[in-house]
Amino acid sequence: MTPTQLLDEVEDALLDRRELITQEQAYALADLADGVGDTLPRMLDLAHRVRLAWCGEEVSLESILSSKTGGCPEDCAFCSQSSAFNTPVKPQPYLTREEVVGAARDAQGTGATEFCLVLAIKGPDEKAMAHILEAAQAIQEETQLEVAVSAGLLTREQAETIAAAGVIRYNHNLEAARSFFPSICTTHGWEERWETCQFVRDAGMELCSGGILGMGETPRQRAELALALRELQPAEVPVNFLNPRPGTPLQKASILDPRVALHGVALFRLVIPFAMLRYAGGREVVLGDLQGTGILGGANGLIVGNYLTTLGRSTADDVRMLHDLAVPVKALTGIL
Ligand code: SF4
Repeated sequence: MTPTQLLDEVEDALLDRRELITQEQAYALADLADGVGDTLPRMLDLAHRVRLAWCGEEVSLESILSSKTGGCPEDCAFCSQSSAFNTPVKPQPYLTREEVVGAARDAQGTGATEFCLVLAIKGPDEKAMAHILEAAQAIQEETQLEVAVSAGLLTREQAETIAAAGVIRYNHNLEAARSFFPSICTTHGWEERWETCQFVRDAGMELCSGGILGMGETPRQRAELALALRELQPAEVPVNFLNPRPGTPLQKASILDPRVALHGVALFRLVIPFAMLRYAGGREVVLGDLQGTGILGGANGLIVGNYLTTLGRSTADDVRMLHDLAVPVKALTGIL
């Protein structure tokens, strides 16, 4: 089958019949990453039309700030918050209730509708659970914001307790394809991440789960990750690009070719047409001036401002980019 025939087939499925594409089609789309220059414009155009048809016009902005930074005992090879590596990110204590509420009020002041606590931990121990529950309660008492949490691996009981505390969404990334995950982490398994995502769904919270592109995986492994995520029915899928961090095992990894990165964005949109696809960490480094192209190629969300441990470009630059692209912006969402 030629690339044109493949893209015609995918278009028929997603736009005419409104059906998901098959595994075979997903892997065939992944193969287009080789010689990507020839097919990229058509793939991006199709991904954009699929995004408009399945998700609508609006693009959502979200800002993040960590409430527990560094000192994580896990050894994820991309992560500067791991205590297994000698990185410039040093462990910080938990933010206090007052700091959390203050940041939530600030976020509400900028128009945020949602606030997410991000903790760099393997999963919550008693202290972390107490922090999450107290913070969730405080934010709900002191603001009108909805609360989201990202705090690593959960047990079923913890997922139920967090849901019962009024948390509407939980972020837990699969990070990589199952077949690639052992190359980037040895202290926990992909299956544990998968299980946590299921506990989140079973507990009635919305699931936010995505991954990182450019860690040395093959294009087919990107399709494998997208297919696995699709099975979990996430509400939101963050797509990060590896920005090699000093001191981590991936510090010397090459930066993804921007055209291959855009191919990845379009691939994720065509495999997971129903979810919000959020450009997350690494987009400035990998895409540079091509960031707007991804918004016209399948993505419909941005993390704005600074990331957990790296600086992003200014929110004003992103808002200007969206304005120039004539893309309507959904309410700003703040993450702590
Ligand atoms: S579990 Fe999370 S915070 Fe810890 S090393 Fe892995 S990615 Fe980093």
